[in-house]
Amino acid sequence: MAIRKIAILTSGGDAPGMNAAVRAVVRTALGRGIDIYGVYRGYNGLINGDLQPMHLRSVSDIIHRGGTVLYTARSPEFCTEAGLQKAVKTCQDAGIDGLVVLGGDGTFRGAQDLSRRGIPCVGLPCTIDNDIACCEQTIGYDTALNTCMEMVDKLRDTSQSHDRCSVVEVMGRHCGYLALNVGIAVGATSILVPEVPFDFERDIVERMNQTAATGKKHFIIVVAEGIGGVTKLTKRIEEETGVESRATILGHVQRGGNPTVSDRVLASRMGNYAVDLLCDGRSNRVVAINNDCLTDYDIEEALHMKKVFDTDLYRMAHEISI
Ligand code: ATP
Repeated sequence: MAIRKIAILTSGGDAPGMNAAVRAVVRTALGRGIDIYGVYRGYNGLINGDLQPMHLRSVSDIIHRGGTVLYTARSPEFCTEAGLQKAVKTCQDAGIDGLVVLGGDGTFRGAQDLSRRGIPCVGLPCTIDNDIACCEQTIGYDTALNTCMEMVDKLRDTSQSHDRCSVVEVMGRHCGYLALNVGIAVGATSILVPEVPFDFERDIVERMNQTAATGKKHFIIVVAEGIGGVTKLTKRIEEETGVESRATILGHVQRGGNPTVSDRVLASRMGNYAVDLLCDGRSNRVVAINNDCLTDYDIEEALHMKKVFDTDLYRMAHEISI
């Protein structure tokens, strides 16, 4: 069956590069003579019938902007049978032949439910956490890395001036990828991630004391969100090392900002590929990139894969932070 009309929505946490992906999907579809609708506020928009036709100029001047012009939401109602049925009915009434959803694993679960109900869906991995197992790099991750790096660089200036220790919490939920790579990029003394058990004395106090003995007077400790308790940890560091210490939780600023080149290009490639999949009659797929090649996975298979933590990279970070 030829695809005549598709829709697109953004769901879950926003990620820089979502707009670039929306632009790519809209332009690819329209260029191929396919009508496209934008659905507002994630799955809530499908439940409420909040969708509008998009045109070539609907996506002008958005490639460089963070956030999402389609807005996003978490929709508990969509997880109910009644909510799902309303969403399916909206798609059927509007004559939607395929749907592109941008988000993380929760969003893909929703896409799987819709696919099972006969609405062909393709998911694009958009999350700053880089926690999608089938995909080396998610849309938004590179921008968040650069945002965190810039902010920790600023913290370094002030901790250097005061001979302090800066303990910085970065996002990532249960995944330490953001923390690990930010930690390497800022030259952190210690990096704490949920994937690697840590020992407070060995991995923080001894490391700080050892580097202090070689003349180091200020320190950066990067802590992944999944570790938690950063304020308590900072207090304990100050008590046990005698180095004045400050906790900084970077928070939602990590989600914003203009997407980097890498995220804009990735989002554009993935958006274009998503329309290819729908045109080829493929459904229930997640787009991924591995070794710079675009590929796609069955959603069920993708959700069962486990993200493998790069322990070699973690060891390397440890080795050079002396
Ligand atoms: P992020 O990585 O930013 O958290 P996400 O896509 O994982 O993104 P969620 O809040 O988990 O964010 O999911 C987004 C939406 O997807 C939910 O609000 C809900 O509507 C839908 N969703 C989540 N889990 C399920 C599920 N198990 N079944 C059906 N739909 C779901």
